[in-house]
Amino acid sequence: MNYISTRGNAKKLNFEGVLLKGLADDGGLYIPESTPVMSADEINSLSKKTYQEIAFHIIKKFTGETFPDSVLNEMIFESYKNFTSKSIAPLVEYEKDKYIMELFHGPTLAFKDIAMQLISRMLNFILTKRNIDSTIICATSGDTGGAAVDAFSSNNRVKLFVLLPDGRVSDVQRRMMTTVKSKNIKILSIDGNFDDCQNIVKNLFNDHDFSKNVNLSGVNSINWARIMVQCVYYFTAFSFIEDKDIPINFIVPTGNFGDIYAGYLAKSMGLPISKLIIATNINDILKRCIDTGIYEISDVIPSNSPSMDIQISSNFERLLFDLEGKDPLKVRKCMTLLSDNGKFKLSKNAHSQLKEMFDADALDIAETLKTIKHVYLKYNIIIDPHTAVGFGVSLKKPNLPVVTLSTAHPAKFPETVFEAIGKYPALPTKHKNLHSLSENIQCMPNNAQKIKDYIVSQ
Ligand SMILES: *Cc1c(COP(=O)(O)O)cnc(C)c1O
Repeated sequence: MNYISTRGNAKKLNFEGVLLKGLADDGGLYIPESTPVMSADEINSLSKKTYQEIAFHIIKKFTGETFPDSVLNEMIFESYKNFTSKSIAPLVEYEKDKYIMELFHGPTLAFKDIAMQLISRMLNFILTKRNIDSTIICATSGDTGGAAVDAFSSNNRVKLFVLLPDGRVSDVQRRMMTTVKSKNIKILSIDGNFDDCQNIVKNLFNDHDFSKNVNLSGVNSINWARIMVQCVYYFTAFSFIEDKDIPINFIVPTGNFGDIYAGYLAKSMGLPISKLIIATNINDILKRCIDTGIYEISDVIPSNSPSMDIQISSNFERLLFDLEGKDPLKVRKCMTLLSDNGKFKLSKNAHSQLKEMFDADALDIAETLKTIKHVYLKYNIIIDPHTAVGFGVSLKKPNLPVVTLSTAHPAKFPETVFEAIGKYPALPTKHKNLHSLSENIQCMPNNAQKIKDYIVSQ
């Protein structure tokens, strides 16, 4: 399978190339040249398989000949062997036809582990085969960084630099990154917000000399491998649900549009998804875009679901490519307008397609707290604030059969949960020492050149 850039001016790559590269040389994002489509029979046949078997079945379609089957199988097995739920992404039916899909049973308690564990192993295989080392740069709104630190801490072919927005991640999130003592990992606290961190990452990739020199790779959801691995759990959710005749809707707490784009990918492959519902906090650029057809950046406002405090939803560019008739010229035009004027307008046709497939709603800080309390009192389930944003959206659609993605464990956000229910969620045993370990963190200005200099010095 070949991959092309959404902006049409980068060379085609196979999966191995895309995994190593992250962002395309023309600033675009890689997508498959054509999407593999599955028949209803093929999809239904997955029902009898385990999570790992389904993962193999789906991922193989995208990786082609990059990994021998036995290697891919082994990597998938190893990636998920330390998850604390045997089904990896269990589905909890809290009311008839209403489910929560728990994606937080990995080592750092958020859904980011599901892709990161596998990507680290895939990268290690390729780097070892080529006998080269790689520098990985990763912007985090809180959870990607922790997942990357865990996944890469014993990967000796990789040097990992994590950029986090100073003061905008929770203590537990930060400590999961800063308390891991591995020589190949540096945590940089950037004086800015997540969008600033992500812009630095894009800037580093777009400096082709620098990027070549340090052999730069990226593990943000701009890397196709993330999307590919995450689309698996949409299939496993469907395989768990017994009544296949009820069209399912997924509610996805959304920031960078990676997780929900993975749902769009599953739908494009034939999974019978009715609507993909975007749930955002007060940083509601995607909701505004669905309502008005105008994608317009405003200031990032800190909220109590910090992993979604994002205005530039990078993966939206992948959807835009499809909505605008797979025309890279139109994508380039939109992206130029976005960087020049901070906004662009979808064509009429693109906007109506968007509204047909997606829906969106937003929760503010108080509604998020109220939802955590409601779910605790009514179902005796403690959810994290990001999941609460999704759950709050489901409450606004009482008659819809839905799967709400639970993207993080509540123990990652103890203060917010306490504020909502007057009770702290317990940290799983593995993390009991988190608050007594010393931290390693470097404060850096919001300046791409300074980050480049630092990376070179290391
Ligand atoms: C990353 C993250 C999100 C947002 O996911 P995107 O793929 O960026 O849209 C939502 N919730 C949590 C807990 C996250 O860590």
